[in-house]
Amino acid sequence: LPAMTNNLTTTNRHSHLPARNSAVLKRKAVVIGEAVASDDADRIFPDQDFAQQAHVPDFGKYLEMYTWSIEDPAGFWSEMADGFYWKKKWGQQVNSENLDITKGNIKIEWFKGGITNICYNCLDRNIESGNGEKIAIHWEGNDRGVDDSLTYNQLLDRVCQLANYLKENGVKKGDSVIIYLPMLMELPISMLACARIGAVHSVVFAGFSAESLEQRIIDCKPKIVITCNAVKRGTKVINLKDIVDSALSESSQNGVHVGLCLTYANEPAMKREDTKWQKQRDVWWQDVVPKCSTKCDVEWVDAEDPLFLLYTSGSTGKPKGVLHTTGGYMVYTAATFKYAFDYKPSDIYWCTADCGWITGHSYVAYGPLLNGATVLVYEGVPNYPDPGRCWDIVDKYKVTIFYTAPTLVRSLMRDGNEAILGSVGEPINPSAWRWFYNVVGDSRCPISDTWWQTETGGFMITPLPGAWPQKPGSATFPFFGVQPAIVDEKGKEMEGECSGYLCVKTSWPGAFRTLFGDHERYETTYFSAFPGYYFSGDGCSRDKDGYYWLTGRVDDVINVSGHRIGTAEVESALVSHPKCAEAAVVGVEHEVKGQCIYAFVTPVEGVEYSEDLKKSLVLSVRTNIGAFAAPDKIHWAPGLPKTRSGKIMRRILRKIASRQLDELGDTSTLADPNVVDQLIALADS
Ligand code: ATP
Ligand code: MG
Repeated sequence: LPAMTNNLTTTNRHSHLPARNSAVLKRKAVVIGEAVASDDADRIFPDQDFAQQAHVPDFGKYLEMYTWSIEDPAGFWSEMADGFYWKKKWGQQVNSENLDITKGNIKIEWFKGGITNICYNCLDRNIESGNGEKIAIHWEGNDRGVDDSLTYNQLLDRVCQLANYLKENGVKKGDSVIIYLPMLMELPISMLACARIGAVHSVVFAGFSAESLEQRIIDCKPKIVITCNAVKRGTKVINLKDIVDSALSESSQNGVHVGLCLTYANEPAMKREDTKWQKQRDVWWQDVVPKCSTKCDVEWVDAEDPLFLLYTSGSTGKPKGVLHTTGGYMVYTAATFKYAFDYKPSDIYWCTADCGWITGHSYVAYGPLLNGATVLVYEGVPNYPDPGRCWDIVDKYKVTIFYTAPTLVRSLMRDGNEAILGSVGEPINPSAWRWFYNVVGDSRCPISDTWWQTETGGFMITPLPGAWPQKPGSATFPFFGVQPAIVDEKGKEMEGECSGYLCVKTSWPGAFRTLFGDHERYETTYFSAFPGYYFSGDGCSRDKDGYYWLTGRVDDVINVSGHRIGTAEVESALVSHPKCAEAAVVGVEHEVKGQCIYAFVTPVEGVEYSEDLKKSLVLSVRTNIGAFAAPDKIHWAPGLPKTRSGKIMRRILRKIASRQLDELGDTSTLADPNVVDQLIALADS
């Protein structure tokens, strides 16, 4: 499953998704097939009934809360934090920070001195308030008909058993535990068990290679590795234990010895007796954990004690070990979940991200459980055994909030809407937003395009459904407490309509506190480009109505004859062509223009490569943006190089475009390395 920190959600409380037969509500919606929306048709207004019952029903209410959060962050966030259980309240000072590298080391603290536990707040607190029998997790297996569920009471029992096992085996507060598990219920259980005893979890997405896992083991030196023997993804069986074995033996040779590998026997994928085993080190989960007590006292921790360590997706280079602490992260993920999804206790929520990514941490596990929500966890791939699987799951569980990544939307779109809905006979505009909105959401479900990063812990710029009209492709406005600043090359903040580097001016509770073991890299990567600001690495523009538009990573900005062009803009223009499924553009050197635009294009299923199609794709960019942005070269791409979290790695495309094939760099986080060879083979076609 894709990981996506650039995400789209759709919220539908009137009936479950997708609403195949229900009447389309009348609203100022866009028409399918429209090429370029005009200014006013460009906005999609929230449904009035929906807005009225929303936590933030209009822009006025948002402004009131936002202003409070900016003028009095301590007061605002104390109020948000009050709903949680604190063994001891934080000290006099709610927050303190230094984001200015010229004034000393970068330091961020929230609720320091406050004593709490996030597992207690996810489980015990919700049980005490009467939700013990509510379903916490619905689990849907890879194969149809294989499912399970846990109430909050049952989840707490399972978490306590594992927590006790970890404690018995010497895991103490502050120790690291690596979790290398697929989307079984045991994955959130493991995260929560670590949190309960104050151990620092580091989830490694169970699609990573042995080398990537080894690097992370060496980096964080875990007491224990938790894994399972194998997993089925679609029809493929992946032997995870082999990968772990090889990572553990390699890391041993590099001086990091892990003495215990707790292995869950995932029998539908592989029998115990077929699993390679090292008696002194390996233990079957099912043999030991169920014997442990279901009562486990909480380890109370300081708000600033570390909660987890997670590596970034690695789109731009070597992954960074992002460290999040307890209190601020807890308050921030809970608040963003509640407001951005307009969460209500009756909702059934599904986020397709894997817990191996930040989205899975904040919006599969912690954010929803802190709110006492019912969460769906899906083990398999979205299009197995057929492209309708996603929507079948939505129907089966009556999902009301669906959170997913553009990459998933685009891949389902590529399969065509017929397979999914069965009845929409016309070709649709392939712009993913509109397709998602019109076809999946039946033009009724508000869509939230959320901008954030592993580093930010939670949403930073996000629509609040109900509060204001949406513009497809814009993440709209900042969340409470977030002060975005768009700065120019010299680091000067710009006002009003503008375009530049996206920074944040002050800290927010969910901000990461350091890069694990490398505070210096933290300071140089994020705080030295523009002193006084957190620099996101992304480009952004703000329109005349104040809406924020992410334009792509600044390292990817292309400069053609003095025009600075964001990759996102050109890619959107290409994808708006009905025969284009996906596109990625990069800049390559050009004698006259400085740089020119080089586009990799994946046509829609069944469409042949042709010179005519190339011409019409270029025309699409000319008409949508202008002649200056027209690609000089279209390179056919059966697939694009993506990280395992589903993001395009443009640095590899740049090397292919400029034919520097011996300089492809670190490709260890690539989902499918074969893609690179395919692209090289098609270079001159
Ligand atoms: P690395 O930092 O290792 O190169 P990464 O940046 O891809 O990897 P993540 O933290 O998973 O790792 O992703 C955050 C990035 O995703 C953002 O910096 C931004 O480029 C992109 N992104 C997130 N949300 C959006 C969005 N709504 N619209 C556009 N881009 C987004
Ligand atoms: Mg990043």
